[in-house]
Amino acid sequence: MSDKKQQLREISELGEFGLIDHITKDVKLHHKNTLKGIGDDAAVINHGNICSIVTTDLLVEGIHFNLIYTPLKHLGYKAVVVNLSDVYAMNATPKQITVSVAISRKFAVEHMEQLYEGINLACEHYNVDLVGGDTSSSLTGLAISITAIGEAKKEDITYRSTAKKNDIVCVTGNLGSAYMGLQLLEREKEIFKTNPDFNPSLKGYDYILERQLKPEARKDIIKILKELKIKPTSMIDISDGLSSEVLHICNKSDVGCKIFQDKIPIDLNTEKMAEEFKIEPLIAALNGGEDYELLFTIDVKDLEKIKNQASIHAIGHIADKEHGAVMITTGGQSIQLQAQGWNQMKEE
Ligand code: ADP
Ligand code: MG
Repeated sequence: MSDKKQQLREISELGEFGLIDHITKDVKLHHKNTLKGIGDDAAVINHGNICSIVTTDLLVEGIHFNLIYTPLKHLGYKAVVVNLSDVYAMNATPKQITVSVAISRKFAVEHMEQLYEGINLACEHYNVDLVGGDTSSSLTGLAISITAIGEAKKEDITYRSTAKKNDIVCVTGNLGSAYMGLQLLEREKEIFKTNPDFNPSLKGYDYILERQLKPEARKDIIKILKELKIKPTSMIDISDGLSSEVLHICNKSDVGCKIFQDKIPIDLNTEKMAEEFKIEPLIAALNGGEDYELLFTIDVKDLEKIKNQASIHAIGHIADKEHGAVMITTGGQSIQLQAQGWNQMKEE
């Protein structure tokens, strides 16, 4: 770090996505079998007809999780799930993970046992093998990095970059609930900080809390799509809010889109919580994070096949790039979507 004379730039100027683009702009691929490098939910490596899918996520204490209200077992489970979600977003099946941890002195053996209980439970549930990792000490808290390796036939893999005009835009499950769960936990934490005798009132909020603390990846959707003989024309997982992910698909596919506010699935529990917080539930769905649902596009000819699928919602369609990526509100207004996801590096 000998940059004394050089004018240094704040990383916050670029934001997370800007920084990734900047630091990876000189990356060159040397191997023909690297079908996809940086820029999708996971990398794709070709071994004949079968491809490996590789993705990594890093979770840092104080940034991605707060141990005041996150049980370590849940954290371990979630750390696996967020990676598997990226594998499913490629329409692939996860098979192995590696787990690396950096641990500060405040953690005891029993704490690590709890973390691994959650990791093992997720491996069991999603049928993946934990095949390695790394262990280090840390000066400040806990960091967990997981790499997931999956498998798919080359022709089954779905990218962010292949949506085409008139395709139907679909989302799974419901959106904004994990964000509302986080708001609730943060509120109770603040009250607890000023009054340690206070017992958090989390009763009746199980659904949104579970969505935040113990999310699941949409393994079931990949299976359903196969059974319906639908190959999405593009797919991404929703980790940073619907807006941000729709824009990723539009930018990478060089298209625009029109989605409809009244089609965006929001659970009643999310609405209830949002009302209590005086937050528009729509804002939680568009800009909240960590839903780990799937956003995908399908050819119009497949629309009929998803009609009876309770967990798949058609929310709009792909349009020409010139139209931009817009949402039509219930009042008929057209609003440009904006990426306001979990951009931790670009705090306002
Ligand atoms: P996701 O939200 O699906 O996990 P990200 O937004 O984190 O994806 O990353 C977008 C792309 O940039 C991915 O292909 C990822 O592998 C790549 N990427 C992120 N950080 C780095 C980095 N520090 N060096 C190289 N590639 C990176
Ligand atoms: Mg992703």
